[in-house]
Amino acid sequence: MTSKRKKYFKPYFVLVIITSLFCTSTIGQTNLNKQNWIHGSDDCGENTDELIQVVQYDENTWILRQNKCTNYEAPFMFLFLGQDKALLMDTGATKEEVSFPLYETVNTIVDHWRKKQNKEIELVVAHTHKHGDHYAADDQFNGKPYTTLVDLQKTDVINFFKFKNWPNDIVDFELGNRTLRLIPIPGHQEASIAVYDTSTKLLLTGDTFYPGRLYIEDWCSFKTSINRLVEFSKKHEIKYILGNHIEMSLTDGVDYPMGSKYHLAEQKLPLTIEDLNTLQLSLLDLGDKPTRQIHKNFIIYPSK
Ligand SMILES: [Zn+2]
Ligand SMILES: [Zn+2]
Repeated sequence: MTSKRKKYFKPYFVLVIITSLFCTSTIGQTNLNKQNWIHGSDDCGENTDELIQVVQYDENTWILRQNKCTNYEAPFMFLFLGQDKALLMDTGATKEEVSFPLYETVNTIVDHWRKKQNKEIELVVAHTHKHGDHYAADDQFNGKPYTTLVDLQKTDVINFFKFKNWPNDIVDFELGNRTLRLIPIPGHQEASIAVYDTSTKLLLTGDTFYPGRLYIEDWCSFKTSINRLVEFSKKHEIKYILGNHIEMSLTDGVDYPMGSKYHLAEQKLPLTIEDLNTLQLSLLDLGDKPTRQIHKNFIIYPSK
């Protein structure tokens, strides 16, 4: 495993990609319905992809994907830059910096932003929820300058973001000329939150809603959370709904085997409001009984 991982260590490649993105003079918005992502290899020993794919969505928004060959979960991470603070949502599925240089990658972007703003920008590192494939690299950020790490328990999330009536209130988190709205969505995991960026209209839904197996720990809470997201979507313009993984193939209703390190022809990342409404109606139909149900773009997948 160690020798194989050495093959993945290509820090210069990561830096080259980031540097080349900074050179773009005018940055529009990336079309995420067309965006392809690194998706592993049949033989990971031969994989030549970057360790972390870095996609600049617009001037101050970045989307990162972990290489599937370092961890099959291949989670996505999101970085929002404001005039006073930056927010990184999630730290991926691998702890080691050598095979997963997340701090280096994120800090390069934030440092560039700091220089552009000509001021210190605090980096806040938070999580969509408390599962190991989304906080493994937390330690890389621990004790780093101008960096605040939000702890993982539900109470930590409530206290840090100042929720007063979890899970029924929505709180704003100000980055400086950029407001994020945080929506509690327990059910997949009790500390799950969705993040809505009022600037880009991106809605992050973590592992609660993504093109894949929607593992449900608490059926009743999950249903209520999906209702909450639907209500939110009626009152807010949403450009893309973005979750944390891709597990569905381009063939309707067909997911990749669990643990697969190669996703040939995987579905695109965004889901739609129609998908969300379909999920809400399906959950309503299923009633109180946790039931597995396959849909075109996702699978309802109770854990028990
Ligand atoms: Zn999860
Ligand atoms: Zn996950």
